[in-house]
Amino acid sequence: MGIYKAEAIVLRSRVYGEADRILSLFTKEWGKISAIAKGVRKPTSRLRGAVQLFSHTHLVLYTGKNLDTVTQGEADEDFGFLQDDLDRLATASYCAELVERLTLENQPIPKLFQLLLAALRTLKWGEPVLVARVFEMQLLAILGYRPRLDDCVVCGRKRRVLWPDNQETGAAWFSIEKGGVICPDCVPETHGARTVSPAALGAMAYFLRTPLDRAVRVKLARGCSVEIASLLRSFLAYHSEVKPRTWEFFEDLNNITI
Ligand SMILES: [Zn+2]
Repeated sequence: MGIYKAEAIVLRSRVYGEADRILSLFTKEWGKISAIAKGVRKPTSRLRGAVQLFSHTHLVLYTGKNLDTVTQGEADEDFGFLQDDLDRLATASYCAELVERLTLENQPIPKLFQLLLAALRTLKWGEPVLVARVFEMQLLAILGYRPRLDDCVVCGRKRRVLWPDNQETGAAWFSIEKGGVICPDCVPETHGARTVSPAALGAMAYFLRTPLDRAVRVKLARGCSVEIASLLRSFLAYHSEVKPRTWEFFEDLNNITI
């Protein structure tokens, strides 16, 4: 490809050699790529500001045999405010890690690029826990794992119309394995069905259909937030076979944050 341009978000940055960094970039045009920024740790480097962690940046790169090289760059947004707040920084790391681990190199997913950008921008003012939940839901939908919330994932019958939620508890059934809600008739033959509250299902549906920066304004009861976090964690682990490193970090930080 020779020289090419990319609009990128820096997902990960690690020290390499004396003064270089190896970057994992999520680009709008080419999806995830790895690139080296040479000499960027020298105080005089002109690239320094353009490739900070989480920066939204415009880069010029040169194709290499193993790694591409960043030759020029200019950051549009550096999200420096993330460094001042551990919760916001941890949430940004978590979103970036999900993107890094759930996408393939050179597979552009412009909607996911926009979603990550929206999450980083919203972290300036939004509740980090809610940013993480809405991000997870929308990421699942973009990557083709959209949880089915309105009809039975086994037989297809419409929830609420053809089968009511459990009369006693108000809860509905959900199967992580099948990827959505299940009706009472299909529960006996579904392995590992668990209950989920209508409030959690309602919030999840709202997160799927509402732009992230609006969805995070919702007021969510703590119990409901914890319920959704637990459900989505199982869902992500099962369907993506990924257990993000940042989960353990969140647990250390605050065991009910996520
Ligand atoms: Zn069914």
